[in-house]
Amino acid sequence: MATIPQRVIHEYLRHDKKFPHVWCAGCSNGIVLGSIIRALAGMNIDRDDIVMVSGIGCSSRMPVYVDFNTLHTLHGRAIAYATGVKLHKPQLKVIVVTGDGDATAIGGNHLIHAARRNIDLTVILINNNIYGMTGGQCSPTTPHEAIATTAPYGNIEPDFNICDLAMGAGASYVARTTAFHTQETQTMVKEAIEHPGFSLIEIISSCPVIFGRLNKKGGPAQMLKDMRDNSLPLSAADKLPPEKVAGKMLRGVLRREIRPEFCSVYADLVKRVQAKGVEA
Ligand code: SF4
Ligand code: MG
Repeated sequence: MATIPQRVIHEYLRHDKKFPHVWCAGCSNGIVLGSIIRALAGMNIDRDDIVMVSGIGCSSRMPVYVDFNTLHTLHGRAIAYATGVKLHKPQLKVIVVTGDGDATAIGGNHLIHAARRNIDLTVILINNNIYGMTGGQCSPTTPHEAIATTAPYGNIEPDFNICDLAMGAGASYVARTTAFHTQETQTMVKEAIEHPGFSLIEIISSCPVIFGRLNKKGGPAQMLKDMRDNSLPLSAADKLPPEKVAGKMLRGVLRREIRPEFCSVYADLVKRVQAKGVEA
């Protein structure tokens, strides 16, 4: 993997104040952070025009390390805070970094309603299939029969498909990739930020220290190799026979459509009401 240029490290990271980071050795959160800041550096967005918002969890520590405007908020509430920021200053690029537990359990309602409104937020959902920071409990994406500290005999619940959930709720840009696919992640982050509506990127990631150990996944390198070997780009899957696609996780842009964006609709409403004046 290419190293991060010094310029990006100096401009985009609080490298002299907040490092070393808290993530375990081998965690893929750092890889995802690298992909995000490379994407932003490539877009040449002024740091003052970016806001990164998070809730609670391992991946939600990310705003601590970036030198943008940042908000590190309550568990599950990142999208609610981000909605307030975006409505107040629609010109800002508002990025939410969140995990599977944070976004689809405690924050599930904020996720589906932001998608329904089509507010122009970029949600980067880092899915490691478990609550890492809080001790390895089952999350809504813990696979059926996988082990968690709250499911020592195997998870009896079915798991959420996050991209299907987002599309069902109305998200207008939805994509899936993995922490292994760094170039793909960079491209998707750029596209999602440029997309004028609610964007969600699900990034499959690894928690080798809790999920990996509990489920005997073979360590950080093996978990990354599994992301490579067990996934397929949508473009390739279309050309393969069904037996070669069965059981693979599909990567790529699953939806990209333009429909009215919430802040613009709201601004139009304010203009219309003000033009009419206050009615008795
Ligand atoms: Fe990463 Fe898991 Fe460690 Fe959290 S607990 S930092 S997700 S490896
Ligand atoms: Mg998680």
